[in-house]
Amino acid sequence: MGCAGLSLAIHMARSPWAEGRRILIVDRDRKDRNDRTWCFWETGAGPFEDIVHRRWEKAWFHAPGYSGLKDLAPYAYKMVRGIDYYRHCMQILSAHPSFEIRHGEVESLSSESENASVRIDGIEYKGHYVFNSILFEPPVIATHEIQLLQHFKGWVIETETDRFDSREATLMDFRPPQDHGTTFVYVMPLSPRRALVEYTLFTPALLDSNTYDKGLSDYIDNHMGLTDYRVAEEEFGVIPMTNHRFPSREGRVLHIGTAGGQTKASSGYTFRFIQKHSARIVASLEAKGHPFDTKGFWKGRYDWYDSVLLHILHHRKLEGWFVFRELFRNNPPRRILKFLDNETTFPEEVRLLNSLPQWPFMKAGLRELMNRFKG
Ligand SMILES: Cc1cc2nc3c(=O)[nH]c(=O)nc-3n(C[C@H](O)[C@H](O)[C@H](O)COP(=O)(O)OP(=O)(O)OC[C@H]3O[C@@H](n4cnc5c(N)ncnc54)[C@H](O)[C@@H]3O)c2cc1C
Repeated sequence: MGCAGLSLAIHMARSPWAEGRRILIVDRDRKDRNDRTWCFWETGAGPFEDIVHRRWEKAWFHAPGYSGLKDLAPYAYKMVRGIDYYRHCMQILSAHPSFEIRHGEVESLSSESENASVRIDGIEYKGHYVFNSILFEPPVIATHEIQLLQHFKGWVIETETDRFDSREATLMDFRPPQDHGTTFVYVMPLSPRRALVEYTLFTPALLDSNTYDKGLSDYIDNHMGLTDYRVAEEEFGVIPMTNHRFPSREGRVLHIGTAGGQTKASSGYTFRFIQKHSARIVASLEAKGHPFDTKGFWKGRYDWYDSVLLHILHHRKLEGWFVFRELFRNNPPRRILKFLDNETTFPEEVRLLNSLPQWPFMKAGLRELMNRFKG
């Protein structure tokens, strides 16, 4: 009943496929806290438009030697608070006759030829399919695979006077020291006196907790020019960025969310991929009577691009700030955002590649192509 479970349930609830069925949703957590905030971009109104907390049409990009205020059109950068999402979804699902929400510990899953089973608090339930978003064990990363961690600490800060322009976010600011690896800060102004400031790293290991606090306070002092502020809320998170291939299904058990490989390896963004995956699953249920949408080879090229960027960052073939600076300096944001959404055309991808130093990317590309055949 986390992000992916609720997303899939909401997409099912909007489909005639759900009529007359019995769909059980289970989570150990009651989801009554604002345990995370999702940011993402999309064009037009999305499936969760009613609960978008804030949106920005313009955002700054900063790196050593380059700064620019970017017009994100046709995209808007949006923020959805976890608590709003959980409440909104549960309100819809509890009013729908096909859904039952239950709290409990999922102990195991299994699949047989005609049905799939789930064991919850010692009781076995059977159904046609199980949709699973639980990572029971961390993935075992093979030697030819790469895993970086996206780890971040965020503060919501408040000031006594108007200090923020709530129309302009900061998408990435690479000016802080890069000693630990790729390090950037993003800033989401929530009102003229309130902003979320997030200190983010893409590195192999976590840091000690003081380093995140120092990174945040140094950034707020040096780049936002603030000394007088109050920390109203804190958040800490870790998103694995890996080219490990998560199994998409085991028999009648279909994996969804991060457990189903929906986290984009090179960016950590997951929210929109979860929504698109949910829509494809429901389309498959409606059209074919089963939920197993397939991913064609041609789409698989995005996995390769992710591996190449991970390779560059992990082996520090180029510095992360440099790669992102060249991308943002030489391309309109819509091309970059479309690429990060796995939606670009091949000519657009060639343009993006042409804006980067080609030799390191070609070498990394060849290496990762060979690694794909080992997997
Ligand atoms: C702090 C944070 C901020 C993030 N921000 C963004 C963002 O801005 N944009 C973005 O695109 N992505 C973001 N992500 C990444 C991703 O979108 C989220 O992790 C998202 O919640 C993943 O959805 P999920 O359904 O796979 O996992 P979850 O939402 O974590 O859902 C898994 C659910 O399984 C339940 N569970 C686990 N084990 C059991 C068990 N044994 N029995 C019963 N229930 C169980 C958990 O309680 C949980 O509710 C963020 C991640 C974190 C951690």
